[in-house]
Amino acid sequence: MPEQYDCIVIGSGPGGYVAAIRAAQLGMKTAVVEKDKVGGRCLNYACIPAKAVLRVADILSEIDDADEFGIEVSGREVDFSKVSARREKVVKTLTGGVSGLFKKNKIDVIEGEGSLAEGGGVKVGDDVYQASKAIILATGSVPKPVPGTQFGGRVIGTEEAWALPELPKKIAVLGAGASGSEIASAYGRLGTEVLLFEMLDRVLPTEDADISKVAGRTLAKQNIKISLGVPVENVQSHDDKVTFSYGDKTDEADYLIIAAGRGPDVEALGLDKAGVKLTDRGLIEVDGALRTSVEKVYAIGDLVPGPALAHKASDEGVIAVEDANGMKTHPIEYIDIPRATFCTPNVASFGLTEAQAREQGIDVVVGKVQYGAVGAGTVYGDRGGVIKIIGDKKYGELVGGHIVGAKATELIQELVNAKALEGGYAEVARIIHGHPTLSEGVMEAARAADGWLIHG
Ligand SMILES: Cc1cc2nc3c(=O)[nH]c(=O)nc-3n(C[C@H](O)[C@H](O)[C@H](O)COP(=O)(O)OP(=O)(O)OC[C@H]3O[C@@H](n4cnc5c(N)ncnc54)[C@H](O)[C@@H]3O)c2cc1C
Repeated sequence: MPEQYDCIVIGSGPGGYVAAIRAAQLGMKTAVVEKDKVGGRCLNYACIPAKAVLRVADILSEIDDADEFGIEVSGREVDFSKVSARREKVVKTLTGGVSGLFKKNKIDVIEGEGSLAEGGGVKVGDDVYQASKAIILATGSVPKPVPGTQFGGRVIGTEEAWALPELPKKIAVLGAGASGSEIASAYGRLGTEVLLFEMLDRVLPTEDADISKVAGRTLAKQNIKISLGVPVENVQSHDDKVTFSYGDKTDEADYLIIAAGRGPDVEALGLDKAGVKLTDRGLIEVDGALRTSVEKVYAIGDLVPGPALAHKASDEGVIAVEDANGMKTHPIEYIDIPRATFCTPNVASFGLTEAQAREQGIDVVVGKVQYGAVGAGTVYGDRGGVIKIIGDKKYGELVGGHIVGAKATELIQELVNAKALEGGYAEVARIIHGHPTLSEGVMEAARAADGWLIHG
């Protein structure tokens, strides 16, 4: 006879495992159903392996730039099997950590594919487990091919791209959003010839135009040939290569990587029979507390609208179980979730771009500085980074923050925090920052927005 639970979570990614731990903290008897590996796609195949390989490319870039700092390096070589081994070790350490947290919090892991059972509960194989307070759907997303292509052979998705058996000589990447730019920036610097295709008119097209421009300029120096607005056609996978055409050219590469789109992993969940409603785009419809149309059933992470990001999934998991536990929660301000791309240069943002703010009729003020405006930019060797703050002149609010350059993915958090604590650009401008740090640049950009830039 299967056990009874207060909370059952289907999926153990950053949405599901955080939801389960929070549920257990709140005293709920909790189980997680996982059909593959604990930690979800984020830890096993996506965010974490990607960053582990990008870190290697960053170290290599530092070695290549060492001469500027007075260090002569006589030779350097990438041993890709060691890169892969370290990537696997990082993944194992982190997923082992999640398993440890499950044990510590007395959370049961049920191995297998979970679905909503008729009449309530969760079905795994022949067993049905009941949940008295909440079922949390957290099954994430799966890659979707772009029209005219299909996965198979040497046409692969982003998860496979981070786990290639050997360092490829040449790759083609379709899509220069966050994932595509990260793949291009890592492999390009590791020595692979990269063709990066983007249908829109710039790389990282959802970022502020000024920021994309700086990112595009730097990516183009990393063994990456960028093609904009040109569709890739006639894709054919062969045993040892993939061939394709674009514009009036035909070309080939070791792999063609599709980095342009994912869809919710809902197929096995039995949503239709259970009466869970979907949005027009096939995502699960939820309210501000992540409740679905079916009582006690919640959905979080890549299954629901909003940016497909790990930290968004985790926060939704916390809100869902707290709501199920009868606590007061408040809906997420999705536009203010930090967005990070870990290519070099790092790109990070939150809120509206300048163009979006103007379109919305906001009385826009822009504060923009280069990293070179503060001492740390020169000391650490990144004068070309840019920090751009979009403010609302009338109310002094932070409407958006956009950073490209070293540590941008860390620096953005200051602006997100200031906004969350209801601070505006004038407050950031007057907070004392340590010297010499790149975060002084954030303060200077806020001063620029407030009309009194000191260093510039
Ligand atoms: C290459 C790549 C890099 C990325 N990098 C970043 C990044 O740097 N930062 C960031 O914030 N986001 C990043 N993302 C996005 C991030 O991975 C997702 O937003 C995040 O994983 C979503 O978390 P989740 O908990 O919703 O689902 P997932 O992490 O997808 O986990 C879902 C889990 O559910 C399991 N599952 C599915 N169906 C069932 C079922 N029926 N029964 C049992 N188990 C099931 C799956 O096996 C999986 O383990 C990246 C994505 C990709 C593809």
